[in-house]
Amino acid sequence: MTSYADFYRQSIDQPDAFWSEQAKLIEWHKPFDRVCNYDNPPFVQWFEGGQTNLCHNAVDRHLADRAGQAALIAISSETGSERTYTFQDLHGEVQRMAASLKALGVAKGDRVLIYMPMIAEAAFAMLACARIGAIHCVVFGGFASGSLASRIEDAAPKVIVSADAGSRGGKALAYKPLLDEAIRLSSHKPDAVLLVDRGLASMEWVAGRDHLWNELRETHADAHVPCEWLDSTAISYTIYTSGTTGKPKGVQRDTGGYTVALAASMKHIFDGRAGETFFSTSDIGWVVGHSYIVYGPLIAGMATIMYEGLPTQGMDKQPHGGIWWELVEKYRVTVMFSAPTAVRVLKRQDPALLTKYDLSSLRALFLAGEPLDEPTARWISEGLNVPIIDNYWQTESGWPILTIANGVEKKPSKFGSPGIPMYGYNVKLLHESTGEELTVPGEKGVVVIEGPTPPGFMQTIWKDDKRFVDTYWKSVPSKLVYSTFDWGIRDADGYYFILGRTDDVINVAGHRLGTREIEESISGHPQVAEVAVVGVADALKGQVAMAFAVLKDSSLAQDSAAALKLEGEIMKLVDGDLGAVARPARVRFVTALPKTRSGKLLRRAIQAVCEGRDAGDLTTMDDPAALQQIKDKVAV
Ligand code: AMP
Repeated sequence: MTSYADFYRQSIDQPDAFWSEQAKLIEWHKPFDRVCNYDNPPFVQWFEGGQTNLCHNAVDRHLADRAGQAALIAISSETGSERTYTFQDLHGEVQRMAASLKALGVAKGDRVLIYMPMIAEAAFAMLACARIGAIHCVVFGGFASGSLASRIEDAAPKVIVSADAGSRGGKALAYKPLLDEAIRLSSHKPDAVLLVDRGLASMEWVAGRDHLWNELRETHADAHVPCEWLDSTAISYTIYTSGTTGKPKGVQRDTGGYTVALAASMKHIFDGRAGETFFSTSDIGWVVGHSYIVYGPLIAGMATIMYEGLPTQGMDKQPHGGIWWELVEKYRVTVMFSAPTAVRVLKRQDPALLTKYDLSSLRALFLAGEPLDEPTARWISEGLNVPIIDNYWQTESGWPILTIANGVEKKPSKFGSPGIPMYGYNVKLLHESTGEELTVPGEKGVVVIEGPTPPGFMQTIWKDDKRFVDTYWKSVPSKLVYSTFDWGIRDADGYYFILGRTDDVINVAGHRLGTREIEESISGHPQVAEVAVVGVADALKGQVAMAFAVLKDSSLAQDSAAALKLEGEIMKLVDGDLGAVARPARVRFVTALPKTRSGKLLRRAIQAVCEGRDAGDLTTMDDPAALQQIKDKVAV
């Protein structure tokens, strides 16, 4: 067996040889001429000249050997539905969806925005886009009109696929009014909207624009839509992620590189084997959902579980608190993927739920999206008695940057560390201001990646190469390196420890949010003159957003009933604009915000005060009383 050290070294020193070997894990319609084109850094083109298709590799390819095997298991504890689609069934559904999209005018290169709950049709829509070469852009169903509108504006989709409603905790959440409002707010209007009617909420119909999937599916019941062979470098999808500005970034991925990266990660990292079942508890609206609910497991010939519902018992007593483990037992799940927050939620329940089911099929639980604290890791690892594997990555990378590649060599994990750099990632730690490489164990620096970035990594920001270069590749002086915007340290064994973001991005329950976006939303309240939002440590969610607002009429904040009412209004505003995920835990009113003399908000000082830490060097602060006010408010 190869040692991981050798495997990794080859990926960095001889990337062409390494990745042409990995490229054999997928099927190509036309072989590539060149493995890695890095002539124009930091832009990388992988497998130039080659032609393939994501949907072919995820679905059609398996028809020969496993047509009757489960491919997609769609379960909703909200509606009580449970349905298994074999690869053959999935092939049929995806072609029906592809034919419907084509009938609505979608052609290769067109964008299709998908705003859907966790239902099978969402996966059909993604795979159908991949099949016909349309670029999908999935927007998390928990986002509201404002977030959705900015994404419609940027992606300019020809068609939007959506549903009447999602459901959470037994309560239907109507999507259609949010979607209609978002389309009204956006200057770009889609030609058509394709709607799945789940019978959960009534829909106001826009004649000529809105179409019913339930009907089109019948029309195209026998559709035969072959896969469009795409250049390896053709765009497969964009997914929006938050940054330090209010405008979300469309992370753009290719076709061939991504397919190879996922196939390789399923083998070397997740160790998932054809015929087995993979269960990721994420949502299709996040990158984990793209890579490890839909594409990765299917490419590997595995069945994938798509679960709509809570992980624990809800107010309406649905589902029961052992639902995930019941699914593991029932579908003989071998590999599971979740987030630390979800485990912290489970931890509040009766621990006997972990031993009630037969979990002998499970080989490993992967956790990602936020730092994994030691008590949580220990609790779940002892409860399940399987390896708990932390993995660190970003929307931008598409697959893990740091973890343990147990499929190559079984190496020990260390509590608190997501692991070591994955093959293809030339990870370095650099000094924040000098850009010098840090080589002494234990030194804190910025985690960066030297180009060329591996297959599967973002190609660029949709429609904005300049922003891609300026945002990610220019933050370290005199060096062209990709910044993750995370602080890290490395120990003497080469294991990394992630210490949090260097920028104003926060991580609430594994969801990445930009504080600027929340501030912009709150500033929309007529009473708000100025606002600062920071992320504050939270035992359950990792971080929560905390807002400090200066009112136009400061006397309003003196009246506690009026202040409470305003706080409620602001929260509602954020709910309606961005979605409940972005709602601040508290909104406190102050008369001034702490700033530097040049007017820059001192967010890190505010955050430190909120977390009861020392606020650090404040010599550049303009008005010390402003920070004191925040201290007083937090103490209440
Ligand atoms: P997202 O793009 O939403 O997946 O967020 C990526 C960010 O989440 C990273 O830049 C980190 O700040 C954080 N993150 C993701 N996975 C981990 C992990 N395993 N440990 C620590 N932080 C993580």
